[in-house]
Amino acid sequence: TALLEGNFAVITGAASRRGLGKATARLFAEHGATVAILDLDEADAREAAASLGPRHVGMACNVTDLASVRTVMDALVSQWGRIDILVNNAGITQPLKIMEIAPENYDAVLDVNLRGTLYCSQAVIPHMRSRKQGKIVNLSSVSAQRGGGIFGGPHYSAAKAGVLGLTKAMARELAPDNVRVNAICPGFIATDITGGLLTPEKLEEIKAGIPMGRPGTADDVAGCALFLASDLSAYVTGSEVDVNGGSLIH
Ligand code: NAD
Repeated sequence: TALLEGNFAVITGAASRRGLGKATARLFAEHGATVAILDLDEADAREAAASLGPRHVGMACNVTDLASVRTVMDALVSQWGRIDILVNNAGITQPLKIMEIAPENYDAVLDVNLRGTLYCSQAVIPHMRSRKQGKIVNLSSVSAQRGGGIFGGPHYSAAKAGVLGLTKAMARELAPDNVRVNAICPGFIATDITGGLLTPEKLEEIKAGIPMGRPGTADDVAGCALFLASDLSAYVTGSEVDVNGGSLIH
């Protein structure tokens, strides 16, 4: 059955071919949603949207730029009349050690992961509140919970921990208006975010730390996003859902 029939969903950073956002967009579309794919490059965003079918849209949007975010969200609300779902998926990471983090590294990682989540949420919240309906799904990471991931430095852990705090505080504030906000904490998923740094040896090392014995797939994360964006999770808000194959059980 189609879990998102008639829903309009915005997914940031969803043009990346093997990425979590793209897999989520595909699954949402299969479940009847109309999807807007936002990403830095307009042609990439349009191509990704077209690959889902004719009703979907791709638009350029830099989530760190408030004006860009507002322009795109306003255009979507006028085009569609509504936004039911926002997935804050755009993210970047850098494999740095604590003493290697320069001011520009801090700014880049905090801005895309945390500021971007704030800006995109702020851009849709008044609209969702006025309709007394909305679902926001934020991509955090196991690295926020366990003190570092595999490819993310401490500034990435801090940004993703910030996303958890923002998620929970938004959930509390928006719950009276029936806007639900939840976070997903993926473990290791092989996407382009690793920037080609994944060697076969590194993969074996990673697998050894995963009780389920395999890395996650983008579809594993998309399934969780579908649950959180649909009415299956109608009474779930402020939660952090682990999608990590048991690599962090807490
Ligand atoms: P990815 O690199 O495949 O895709 C990220 C996308 O975000 C890219 O298309 C990129 O162009 C876009 N983007 C970057 N900066 C942007 C900006 N300023 N504005 C708009 N778009 C921007 O990454 P992915 O692995 O699919 O990761 C998706 C999300 O999941 C990220 O938030 C990431 O931190 C998180 N995550 C990933 C993993 C993993 O193992 N892959 C684990 C935990 C969390």
